[in-house]
Amino acid sequence: MTRTLITGGLVITAADEVHADVLIEHGRVVALAAPGTQEWAADRVIDASQKYVIPGGVDAHTHMELPFGGTFASDTFETGTRAAAWGGTTTIVDFAVQAKSEPLRAGLDAWMAKADGNCAVDYAFHMIMSDVNESTLREMPKLVELGVSSFKLFMAYPGVFYSDDGQILRAMQVAGDTGGLIMMHAENGIAIDVLVEQALARGETDPRYHGEVRKALLEAEATHRAIQLARVAGSPLYVVHVSAQEAVAELAAARDMGLPVFGETCPQYLFLSTDNLAEPDFEGAKYVCSTPLRPKEHQAPLWRGLRTNDLQVVSTDHCPFCFVGQKELGRGDFSKIPNDLPGVENRMDLLHQAVVDGHISRRRWIEIACATPARMFGLYPQKGTIAPGSDADVVIYDPHATQVLSAETHHMNVDYSAYEGRTITGQVETVLSRGELVVDQRKYTGHAGHGAFVPRGLCQYLG
Ligand SMILES: [Zn+2]
Repeated sequence: MTRTLITGGLVITAADEVHADVLIEHGRVVALAAPGTQEWAADRVIDASQKYVIPGGVDAHTHMELPFGGTFASDTFETGTRAAAWGGTTTIVDFAVQAKSEPLRAGLDAWMAKADGNCAVDYAFHMIMSDVNESTLREMPKLVELGVSSFKLFMAYPGVFYSDDGQILRAMQVAGDTGGLIMMHAENGIAIDVLVEQALARGETDPRYHGEVRKALLEAEATHRAIQLARVAGSPLYVVHVSAQEAVAELAAARDMGLPVFGETCPQYLFLSTDNLAEPDFEGAKYVCSTPLRPKEHQAPLWRGLRTNDLQVVSTDHCPFCFVGQKELGRGDFSKIPNDLPGVENRMDLLHQAVVDGHISRRRWIEIACATPARMFGLYPQKGTIAPGSDADVVIYDPHATQVLSAETHHMNVDYSAYEGRTITGQVETVLSRGELVVDQRKYTGHAGHGAFVPRGLCQYLG
């Protein structure tokens, strides 16, 4: 068993920034000490002077191989987790999907089989409930026991994933009783479908209309409704991919009342806008996701929410579809464009850029990208920090390097980058997953099958 010593770097966690040597053995962090003060023997020494030593990223929202609109997300668990590793993310929490009228367990087994033996880094699952009924409600506590302690419901996509308010309330009641966490896609899908139909009837078929019909008010309304239902049920609530400032305001108001209500946003809402959706020649399809990109004015309230802790987590909602052959399914009808975009490789870098730009501090970077997602989903302190006993998921990050994001150089299995040509200060240099080198000075040394399923405990986040 290899003993690894990382010397001389600035170790950054959500709590601290300290120059320290880090000793790793049997896949775990064993000890930290002031640089050069210990005579630790090691088989491998990694010099991290002038570099950051940070916990591997925890991306709590990915969709590898997701079936959507007659096609599949283009990253498999193999390609997607390899790209995650390249980007300094060492744990993903993906979504197993319950097929309508099937048990939750069948969906979980199907997703376990897709991931098993294929992942470069560790993975866990949330459960998408497509069908809340007596039998799936009874299954929820069993899923929690299996380490799948969060359940995603949709107020959008009628006829597909949609749950009505009664179903949502019932699932929240079970979550409240068992310690499970309800994750909500908060958009009023019934109203949106009316607006989609009316837009198409007017001949408004371009990608930019995707953003116009999925109105910020309909995100805010659904967010408000989800919060009230959670209050009635006595359960905590985690709202996924918050994009509208009006929705941030609903979360902030709930949190001001002391309610256990949490919000996630994604890099696309922080760095992109409806300007991208309006790009000509159908290029806007690259940026079709739900919730949709918003006008630029929404970015500042999202950054503020991340600073004030009205938003706690940045995940990617990584769900890539190639422009050629996949996004193109929606030429002439924006409602047929597969939703969502690639990002699992870019999240840690984009958020470091946010540090450079002054939006967030270094420790807040680690908090929203590593520590809080681990706490929120019952993985802390195994994941999300660098401390004795934690998994040795460690990234050596060069804060001075510059890179240009591009589909030419990224490792995600998709033919475009949502951030094409963007210059980033900072770059992942070396990545360890449970002590094993998966990226060694920008050479990939990992392999499919190293990544293991991580059963999760209950939500540990109370902040
Ligand atoms: Zn999603």
